Amino acid sequence: MQKRILIVEDEAAIRDMVAFAVRKGDFDPVMASDAREAQEAVADKVPDLILLDWMLPGTSGIELARRWRKDALTRDVPIIMLTARGEENDRVSGLEAGVDDYVVKPFSARELLARIRAVLRRSREDEEDGSVQVGGLRIEGAAHRVFANEQPLTIGPTEYKLLHFFMTHADRVYSRSQLLDHIWGGNVYVEERTVDVHIRRLRKTLAPFGLDEMVQTVRGAGYRFSATAAIA
Ligand code: CA
Repeated sequence: MQKRILIVEDEAAIRDMVAFAVRKGDFDPVMASDAREAQEAVADKVPDLILLDWMLPGTSGIELARRWRKDALTRDVPIIMLTARGEENDRVSGLEAGVDDYVVKPFSARELLARIRAVLRRSREDEEDGSVQVGGLRIEGAAHRVFANEQPLTIGPTEYKLLHFFMTHADRVYSRSQLLDHIWGGNVYVEERTVDVHIRRLRKTLAPFGLDEMVQTVRGAGYRFSATAAIA
């Protein structure tokens, strides 16, 4: 059964290119050129994933994302935002509206399919026995033990929490303030640059195993943890 992917994009040339790529990836594309068509498509059948252009005439992509996140029907549908260069400042607000990931225009079909597959894979994986495996990293949740390429890893308590969060939320971009909320529990006395400090330490811990590149910086947005190679 092919997964249905809704493409919301007002520029016909980009929409057709994206639909072509999606079809090539063995997915079933459904197209919409504005918010109204997108809502109709979702009402007709809830898609497995939504590719959402930021700049749409009338209702913006971000406003649509916010609505879908509030609606029980679409709350869990992954959304990948299609943004233009120069919209980096808006990405944090996109993350806060519940967007899962970004692809920056112009992008190749290969890049787009890699992100689609990663986001679909993540939404399928659930932590069951407290153990999590992403690429060469494995956490035994109950014992709080981390293995890098099956070697036990010595890791600080904050880095452990950060890594555990990342591994159970792989392939999704988080802003610094979202990471603060999740890892530090919304402690108002912790500054956002504290996140960068612990990210640096985490990378340093993973570097001897060649796994530091799993912690990816997403320019203008925050950080993403991924087993797949970094896509800028
Ligand atoms: Ca547009």
